[in-house]
Amino acid sequence: MVQRGLDSRQGETALWLAGFVPNFGIDLHAALSAARHGHALEARLDDFRRAWVQDFDLEQRIVQSFNLDLRKRVPAYRGWHEIGCLRDLPVISKRDLLYRGADFLHDDAASLDLYAKTSSGTSGRPVKIGYAPVFQFEYLLLSIRKVAYAAGLDLDPVRRIQCVRVIDRDDSGSVLYPDPTGLAGPVLRLQVDTRSLAELDSCANLLRRIGPAVVSSKPSILDGLSRSGARPFDRDQIQLVVSGGAVLSAEISGRAAQFFNASVVSAYGLSETGLVAYQCAHGRFHIDRSACYVEQDGPSGAGTAELIVSTLLNPAMPLLRYRTGDSTLPGQTQCACGRSDPGLVEIAGRIVPTFRTAAGAPVSPSQLFRNLPSYSKDLIEYRVDQLEPGRFAVTIETRAVDRAEFARQIAARLNGALDGVGSASVILDEIPRGDKFQRYRDLSG
Ligand SMILES: [Zn+2]
Repeated sequence: MVQRGLDSRQGETALWLAGFVPNFGIDLHAALSAARHGHALEARLDDFRRAWVQDFDLEQRIVQSFNLDLRKRVPAYRGWHEIGCLRDLPVISKRDLLYRGADFLHDDAASLDLYAKTSSGTSGRPVKIGYAPVFQFEYLLLSIRKVAYAAGLDLDPVRRIQCVRVIDRDDSGSVLYPDPTGLAGPVLRLQVDTRSLAELDSCANLLRRIGPAVVSSKPSILDGLSRSGARPFDRDQIQLVVSGGAVLSAEISGRAAQFFNASVVSAYGLSETGLVAYQCAHGRFHIDRSACYVEQDGPSGAGTAELIVSTLLNPAMPLLRYRTGDSTLPGQTQCACGRSDPGLVEIAGRIVPTFRTAAGAPVSPSQLFRNLPSYSKDLIEYRVDQLEPGRFAVTIETRAVDRAEFARQIAARLNGALDGVGSASVILDEIPRGDKFQRYRDLSG
């Protein structure tokens, strides 16, 4: 059933939260645009469920959309003749988005209230993506139901808070995303300063009080929460823990499963494409065939292959044959969950390590060094290596004329920002920028 706006129950939820969650905003914009797209979103969820259990010809859908629409109305594809299959198109890469990203915006995007976001940049230079409101809603809310469904859990969409997404503290604040469609359930994005054990502890207590079905976060935060010293959760307080944004190690996964007393699964996606694959209850990644058409580029047989993704999930910026830079180990055998598609045995790319403060507290590298890119326009690229807990070597590439002076200034600002959490030395060097580029490395052993 698709409702038409915010009802009183959602207002009550906001009031209830305001009683104990400090300073959160409410994203009415995403909610209202979701209400307008209720039917489309319902169709997406139906497609997803169908595609999870049977074949789904997404390629044909994309090809049709390309021939009828995209080749006329997306500048980057303009002038192309009709195609028979996606392989008729060239592969595009992050570089294309960096240098001519606006060419991938659909003509219709001009009339949409676009939400622009810069990708996290953990695997290369950040790129700017324009999101349609319907994509926003899918990414923030609907994806929770998909992930849970893939893990064997059919969530009740009528729930006070369906999911709490715990993120690093930045300037955007905590946000409640109401769900006027009744398809997904409200999501609360909750900020926490992961450098503080006291904050991690109070975050765990907030989670207990809110009681969402799902807790979603990235590995370093799940690790921090599990080690915060907070009392572990009782059985069934949380139904599922979802990890995303980086590869989840078996070690952190095990700790989080114990702490939350719930199953832990990973979702794999990119800022550019949305979610691509989910882990089933048997621990294997399966592609969301209703949303992403995936090619695996590499030698057939053994060895890793690079993922190439085509998706129409974001109508504002349809990316076809996008080279992800992430490698996988493809597997062909049937999974114990019953799916026999060529699943992804594991996502081998983008392992973002957890850094440690000098005091030994786990902290996410992108949180610790998030302001570095804003220090100077002369900074071309950077990479951070942890040498030992709290000690970092930051390699920078600059276009500044006085490189030594530039390095001194960056070092001063960095160490000011690290503020006792650790120290950084700055090295001037060229940084190779292939597909294997990793911004954060842990060399502490
Ligand atoms: Zn499976």
